Amino acid sequence: MSGIYIHIPFCKKACHYCDFHFSTSLKYADEMVEAICKEIKFKKDRITESIGSIYFGGGTPSILSQHALQKIFDAINTNFHVNANAEITIETNPDDLTSQKIKELNQLPVNRLSVGIQSFFNEDLIWMNRAHNAIEAEDCIKRSQDAGFENLTLDLIYGYPLLTDEKWNFNISKALSLEVPHISAYALTVEPKTALAQFIKTKKQNPISEGQSAEQFIILMDKLEKAGFEQYEISNFAKPGHYAVHNTNYWRGVNYIGIGPSAHGFDGRNRYMNPANNAQYLQTIEHNKLPEVIETLSVNDRFNEYIMTALRTIWGVDLEKIKLEFGQEFLEETKHNLRSFDDKGWLLLSQDKIKLTQSGKLFADQIASELFIVNE
Ligand code: SF4
Repeated sequence: MSGIYIHIPFCKKACHYCDFHFSTSLKYADEMVEAICKEIKFKKDRITESIGSIYFGGGTPSILSQHALQKIFDAINTNFHVNANAEITIETNPDDLTSQKIKELNQLPVNRLSVGIQSFFNEDLIWMNRAHNAIEAEDCIKRSQDAGFENLTLDLIYGYPLLTDEKWNFNISKALSLEVPHISAYALTVEPKTALAQFIKTKKQNPISEGQSAEQFIILMDKLEKAGFEQYEISNFAKPGHYAVHNTNYWRGVNYIGIGPSAHGFDGRNRYMNPANNAQYLQTIEHNKLPEVIETLSVNDRFNEYIMTALRTIWGVDLEKIKLEFGQEFLEETKHNLRSFDDKGWLLLSQDKIKLTQSGKLFADQIASELFIVNE
């Protein structure tokens, strides 16, 4: 079943490390919701089967009012058939999750909350320039659970200078004590054009340590495995039966449409990319046009994308699929490229599937790039 991704490009504050597309001005929020509803209508023929997942990402979708979110749901339901069991996720920030907000979200078709906790330490949240504090981080989860939201996922960040191993252990233990069925954890990366990159450049901040990130990734995998979580993707851990439908479909190459500024869509062959610019997006939709750029992926692009995403998952890279979808030549070259990993202990090959070992997970990107096939 296909999916819908909706990008809500607004945030209260700019987190220092973030390079997602957002504006901290809500001046055009109403116009944005109207434009998003229009884009949903324009794309109604792109998906004819039922929708199995809807994902509100951003930015901070929980910044929108119940009325605005309801409008978007009305547009979706008017133009698509949403499966009765569809997973409907909204990204939220702890400071937005007041009792009233949770009540409102409960009245919408939302059935999964993704909460941007990042850390349970105030000093870390201040360093990141997050809009919430440590008490809100903990309380919002309990409030959501008391209101009946059981399908919750938390985001955590590791590998930043303030985070000692002791604090990282505490953050993971705290997340586990909240009894959520899903946790996503990301190593901090320094993206160009972010405040963090500027701080490092001007020496206000020490560079990020790769060694620290690797060590904390190992702590993460170890602790979550002991707590009964399955690492079904490098950065995603779930209790059995709680894998994210939307993300899993994305990694498995299922079709989805992207709505809103900077959103991407994919139909198995073409990638559709909206501009990461609110004004340009609004103006183009206003003129009843789609603002997207379409990139048709070459066979090599599709193969490399498959390697990149599948290798990071619990399902691994399927050699039989490579043969069927990309042909014997791709299969032979992949087998040839695999030989360079023979004595490293990073890959497991079993039943025609290539999977990362625990130590291989530390080098996922490097391994994937060595398996890529590029046009000569
Ligand atoms: S709330 Fe999320 S999207 Fe917004 S600036 Fe922070 S990390 Fe980026």
